[in-house]
Amino acid sequence: EFIQALQMPGTIKDKDKKDEVSDDDRKQMSMEETRKSLPIYPFKEDLIAAIREYQVLIIEGETGSGKTTQIPQYLYETGFTKDDKKIGCTQPRRVAAMSVASRVAQEMRFKLGNEVGYSIRFEDCTSERTVLKYMTDGMLLREFLGEPDLSSYSVIIVDEAHERTLHTDILFGLVKDIARFRPDLKLLISSATLDAEKFSEFFDDAPIFRIPGRRFPVDIYYTKAPEADYLDAAVVSVLQIHCSQPEGDILVFLTGQEEIETANEMLQERTKKLGSKIRELMILPIYANLPSDMQSKIFEPTPPGARKVILATNIAETSLTIDGIKYVIDPGFCKQDSYNARTGMESLMVTPVSKASANQRAGRAGRTSAGKCFRLYTAWAYKNELEDNTIPEIQRTNLGNVVLMLKSLGIDDLIHFDFMDPPPHETLVLALEQLYALGALNHRGELTKLGRRMAEFPVDPMLSKMILASERSKYKCCKEILTITAMLSVNNSVFYRPKDKMVHADTARQNFFLPGGDHITLMNVYNQWEETAHSTQWCYENFIQHRSMKRARDVRDQLEGLVERVEIEMTSNPSDTIAIRKAITAGFFYHTARLDKSGNYKTVKHHQTVLVHPNSSLYEDRPRWLIYHELVFTTKEFMRQVVEIENSWLLEVAPHYYKNRELQDGSSKKMPKATGKSREEVTRKY
Ligand code: ADP
Ligand code: MG
Repeated sequence: EFIQALQMPGTIKDKDKKDEVSDDDRKQMSMEETRKSLPIYPFKEDLIAAIREYQVLIIEGETGSGKTTQIPQYLYETGFTKDDKKIGCTQPRRVAAMSVASRVAQEMRFKLGNEVGYSIRFEDCTSERTVLKYMTDGMLLREFLGEPDLSSYSVIIVDEAHERTLHTDILFGLVKDIARFRPDLKLLISSATLDAEKFSEFFDDAPIFRIPGRRFPVDIYYTKAPEADYLDAAVVSVLQIHCSQPEGDILVFLTGQEEIETANEMLQERTKKLGSKIRELMILPIYANLPSDMQSKIFEPTPPGARKVILATNIAETSLTIDGIKYVIDPGFCKQDSYNARTGMESLMVTPVSKASANQRAGRAGRTSAGKCFRLYTAWAYKNELEDNTIPEIQRTNLGNVVLMLKSLGIDDLIHFDFMDPPPHETLVLALEQLYALGALNHRGELTKLGRRMAEFPVDPMLSKMILASERSKYKCCKEILTITAMLSVNNSVFYRPKDKMVHADTARQNFFLPGGDHITLMNVYNQWEETAHSTQWCYENFIQHRSMKRARDVRDQLEGLVERVEIEMTSNPSDTIAIRKAITAGFFYHTARLDKSGNYKTVKHHQTVLVHPNSSLYEDRPRWLIYHELVFTTKEFMRQVVEIENSWLLEVAPHYYKNRELQDGSSKKMPKATGKSREEVTRKY
């Protein structure tokens, strides 16, 4: 039950809509006309003039005004790509980089990957000919390693700057620096309507170019009482809107792939029950791991009489603009990294969004006509419980990766790096300590030879250390470790578990279990799939997601290329899981947990209570010493992907980090099973 609380005023009223282009009109228009109907179009000449005049320009405009797709094209038309120079445009999300590049290639009638391309981690869709390059912010950061002055670019657009991802924040400091000694380089910082003054201030008072927005009013509704189950509430709201509200598509904001898949199943089920009593409802998911052919479906026009409902992650907040949305359902949550610099524990957590985020979400309903936003929380909660702004990622995440990268760029004094908002001091210190413990830095904080090689890999330092440890004359299991790394990169989407076949799916999964733990199990899945010559049918029969496997194979191929580059010998040792697990330990010795006398797992250094995830192959075994890949906080702190180790290995791989007495162990026997719920009971919940 909803109550209307307020209206977010627009700049346009529905009754003045005459000169506005309606959605239907748009569908009729050619792509060329569509481009001309975008809010940015009338400002093309002014914008180009401003870019010519100033080296750094902040561009602010409503989501959907055409910043991302049009500005690079305007620059291209004006000749900024002459002399073999490129225009680079960064995106915080890989989906956005791919989708936008494909759209722009279409608009310019080029084949994607030729003149217009994109580059995301483990996937390079560019060529010699590429002059408009969309890429994730992390990829541009990597380009500094090979080309510290970015001399092949004439323009760098740091897009979606308001998202303030870790990589974007680091880019700010780096591009500001190179702009000083490259007067020919143009720098555009583009953002939705947020924070423009702050960006301007950081870039030495760079001028702000504002693209006037077009926005229709959006009515905002809140629930009367808090919702116990927001997923269910979201599904119910979709059906209510579908049955009672006039035409217009629905956008639902959820926190991740799992939630989106559950909501998708629930909606399929319930609409099937309603049968022909309702009009057609097309359910379309969008999240980072969705294959690109399915991603592009969200942009296809809704057939007459039908209604689209898009189940999206945060990606639809500002990075992707979907036309025709009239109703937004906002449960008020997103998934965020949270990091405790004291314990070094990092975990993904479902967190309430900020007011700024909630308002961006609501704004998605008013792009082409007046809309409605249903917030699945109370007006009181909005006012009292939501923060004003999202905390920049740099202040709530592990910095190991970027510190290693900055060190490789020769930036040694991190304390005085030009941060827009500096990270907490403890986080920086901890990152340095971790890199020291991994052997990437020496005691003076300088990059070691190992550290330099680690920086070549676009993965977390713990993973790159694990890869480099696998070559050591002792472990000799590089092939296996690459497979494991690739599988971990898609780890939560390997096993398929449809609602109506959960028991079968679980049995199939358990058949892959091997002693040693989840990493070994993942390797087993990959090896078996390879033996079938990458069969789709085999995946289907074993409840394995084929597209995740294909992605793992791509990642693995890329890693193999990198391994060659740093001249690691391709060793293989498939049956020696001790060697494999020691290599894992060499990278992940920070992530160690031990079973204590009372039958609980505690992290070794900081004695935090952690639980084995019910999906793990070691859920019932409960070995005394474990290494976990990551922590996920749902109701408790769960370790996802765990592997059994022996305490003596910790001294072998990290003698400078662990003291003998920390690792003392009264008995070597396994602890009895903890009393309580069985795997089956617990799995259902998470
Ligand atoms: P901004 O960056 O200002 O938010 P964009 O340049 O991303 O705006 O989007 C401008 C318009 O381009 C959108 O309104 C949408 O109609 C269209 N568009 C963007 N991406 C796609 C796509 N992948 N498929 C179809 N249309 C798209
Ligand atoms: Mg954009």
